[in-house]
Amino acid sequence: MLKTVKSIFRQKCPNCEEGSVFHSNGNILRMKSPGMNENCPVCGHKFEKEPGYFIGAMYMSYGLSLAELGGLFLLWQLTGLPLSGFIYAAIVLLVALMFLNFRLARIIWMYLFR
Ligand SMILES: [Zn+2]
Repeated sequence: MLKTVKSIFRQKCPNCEEGSVFHSNGNILRMKSPGMNENCPVCGHKFEKEPGYFIGAMYMSYGLSLAELGGLFLLWQLTGLPLSGFIYAAIVLLVALMFLNFRLARIIWMYLFR
């Protein structure tokens, strides 16, 4: 179980847990999206099982975003900052974590249905 969680955060193949799923992490400043391998470089496992397979990963991305916003909100409440600035901080946080959420959402989706 712990190895699986570790493999999810290391973004490894759901089949062998060794090969990298992504060949590039993407760069928000250059507006370059993450690059995903079609097959695992170690075991050859095909990541996109069928067309539209990753549409369900949007639910994972939504959940991750809500969790991050919840964490930010709790932090905001603990610091006692005025609530009017929360929306701007939330936008900055979500944009900054956009590609990380994209990658983690796909990885979690693949691990759910392996
Ligand atoms: Zn593999």
